Amino acid sequence: MPDNLPPSLIKFREEFSEFLINNRSLSDEELRKLSLQRGYYRMSQPVGLGGQASSPMQMLIARETVSEMGVLSPNVVIGPEPGLLSEVEGFLKDDYLIPLLKGEKRGSFAFTESKADSPTVAEWDDESLVVSGRKSYVSGGHLSDFMSVVLTVDPKKVTGKYGPAVLVIDSDAPGVEMGEPFYSLDGSSHVEVEFESVRVDSKNVIGEIGQGIPRALGNIMQERIEQAATAVGLALYALDLVTSHLKKPHRSGGTLSDFEGVRLRYADMRINSFAARSVLYRVGRLLEAEDNVINEVTTAKIFCTETASSVIDTAVQLVGGQALISGHPLEGIYRKIRSMRIAGGASDVLRLNLSKGVFEFDSGTV
Ligand SMILES: Cc1cc2nc3c(=O)[nH]c(=O)nc-3n(C[C@H](O)[C@H](O)[C@H](O)COP(=O)(O)OP(=O)(O)OC[C@H]3O[C@@H](n4cnc5c(N)ncnc54)[C@H](O)[C@@H]3O)c2cc1C
Repeated sequence: MPDNLPPSLIKFREEFSEFLINNRSLSDEELRKLSLQRGYYRMSQPVGLGGQASSPMQMLIARETVSEMGVLSPNVVIGPEPGLLSEVEGFLKDDYLIPLLKGEKRGSFAFTESKADSPTVAEWDDESLVVSGRKSYVSGGHLSDFMSVVLTVDPKKVTGKYGPAVLVIDSDAPGVEMGEPFYSLDGSSHVEVEFESVRVDSKNVIGEIGQGIPRALGNIMQERIEQAATAVGLALYALDLVTSHLKKPHRSGGTLSDFEGVRLRYADMRINSFAARSVLYRVGRLLEAEDNVINEVTTAKIFCTETASSVIDTAVQLVGGQALISGHPLEGIYRKIRSMRIAGGASDVLRLNLSKGVFEFDSGTV
């Protein structure tokens, strides 16, 4: 078969597609419950915590399939992943990780700094860290029970370890000020969060102080490859919609697929989708081999989101005015794919990271 996938993954893709086709019209809550019953909801979670620890390739196929079937909220079907909390033990495991995986608590990720003059920093005070600063664009922050906050433990006021760190902070902790939610083009909601001398126990530190950036980067790399998979699925969804649209009767007397010019544009959509899917699956195989694949994941994030943008843009053009009407599936995914070239790292900034990987760390393959 194409794609070089083992039979088990081909079977998974077929069964999962069928599940989504049969149930995609359910409400989010109904779909979540059904996905939990069928074992899909916890497929990315560790076996020891009730999940199935699916392979990286299976998770990419799952995410690709969810968006290929037009389900635009993947987390409803594929539940929360451990993310930054993946290796925590003790208090963080019992009070945050397990409730997160069961869907009893929600987390958010506070990474992007709001302004250069108010960086998020922490100072030691006995066994506590006191956090000040402001984070921007925290997706779902106002809906979350806790945030994983990337910050710097101030080296100037040291009585303990210092450097970049990730802290779990309760959203309702004294001194946490959530701004009013704002909405981005893709429909998702975010908040700016201010930390005014928020006292956090040192047991809320994820991993080691000083190791915050590699940890945060690991989480962002995971987000980036997931975005690549979602983007490929969206391109395939658009392709499917356009294929049936072009076969329908058109006011010209025939169908739009009769026009050679339309066929040329359509062929480009297929070529681009094919290429993006190939890139995704190749990186999936590299991830399975556990190589250092930071540059390849970056490549996939840039290529798949940009290529899917072009595919979806052509889809809108070929379907015409009706594709722009609010509520049309292409209108929704056009907005979604646009935000994906910025969220998780803007394309040009990632291009710079990619070149840095080669010139300064001698890493990356072609
Ligand atoms: C839908 C969405 C969800 C998000 N969710 C979260 C979240 O949950 N948590 C979180 O912390 N953040 C989140 N973000 C923020 C996101 O991480 C940032 O928007 C992203 O990293 C880009 O940063 P920026 O917006 O500050 O743009 P900037 O860094 O200001 O970049 C803007 C543009 O400037 C150019 N540019 C910038 N730097 C360079 C350079 N060095 N060289 C060349 N060109 C450059 C590029 O063209 C770039 O696109 C989200 C954003 C979006 C859109």
